[in-house]
Amino acid sequence: MSFELHDRYSRQVLFAGIGPDGQKMLSKSRVSIVGCGATGSAIASLLARSGVGMLRILDRDYVESSNLQRQTLFDENDARESLPKAIAAARQIARFNSQILVEPHVVDLTPANVEQLLGGVNLILDGTDNFETRYLINDYAVKTAVAWIYAAAVGSYTATLNFLPGETACLACVFPDAPRGTVETCETSGILNSAVNLVASIAATEALKFLVGAQSKMRRTLLSWDVWSNERAEIATAKPRPGCQACGEKHFIHLAGEGRPHITLCGRNSVQIHEQQRPIDFAEITTRLLPHGNVRHNEFVLKFWREPYEMTLFPDGRAIIKGTTDTAVARSLYARYVGS
Ligand SMILES: [Zn+2]
Repeated sequence: MSFELHDRYSRQVLFAGIGPDGQKMLSKSRVSIVGCGATGSAIASLLARSGVGMLRILDRDYVESSNLQRQTLFDENDARESLPKAIAAARQIARFNSQILVEPHVVDLTPANVEQLLGGVNLILDGTDNFETRYLINDYAVKTAVAWIYAAAVGSYTATLNFLPGETACLACVFPDAPRGTVETCETSGILNSAVNLVASIAATEALKFLVGAQSKMRRTLLSWDVWSNERAEIATAKPRPGCQACGEKHFIHLAGEGRPHITLCGRNSVQIHEQQRPIDFAEITTRLLPHGNVRHNEFVLKFWREPYEMTLFPDGRAIIKGTTDTAVARSLYARYVGS
């Protein structure tokens, strides 16, 4: 270890749980962070400052001013320039730790690219905002026996789970089915930055334990914590659920692409989301969408305008999004305003 490296990480090396050997292990570690919004950027910042040797950062979105309240790797310039979050994150990390490698990828994680984006790492961290991607990560992690950490925050509520291959329950053991119908998202329910930082701190600490070989110290529970109501709960996840589709039966529907809605371009400057299993209550979603743009509906369609986009929503969950030909942008909008 060079003198400069030693100095940079001196306070962390002094901590008995890390030590010089742990620090060396961190410097040789490779981690993928899927999604670099609020939780993703907080986790990336902590792991980068801790000296994790390689961070692969995946994100499909760009920085907007409404992100700055909680997405701690970004600033007003990034929002003005609408920089892709992965790129903005890599630039910011280089300003405080130029000695680690950051690999930014401006992509949507799909079954087609999952091997390329999640392969060859020691650990995968969840910075996503949707269950669709989390099930894809879970399938890949179970199939290839890679550890991953689930982390989520909406409103004042947070939840996190460690998956240790061959040992603990996986995401599908705990949540066999994705939530159906419209679900809360940060864009419709808001989010506290303190909830984000709490869950990111817990997930990043569990990641450090894993990477320095202190797996026995890792939590074997699904931990949920509401920072507003102070309700805190843990559900045991030390053992897999018998019959689990993913880790029990090795039936990887999300990896095969079966569980994902198909998205196709459906004309000039618009994208169609072929989701058809999310019954939409127009009255309810109108109430939730009104603070975010203009909304109008009859019994057949709901129209939602948020510049520069126009979303047309059907009762079965299908949507047409005008204003973009980028399927990743359209999916991101759908996940934000309708549900993930
Ligand atoms: Zn399982």
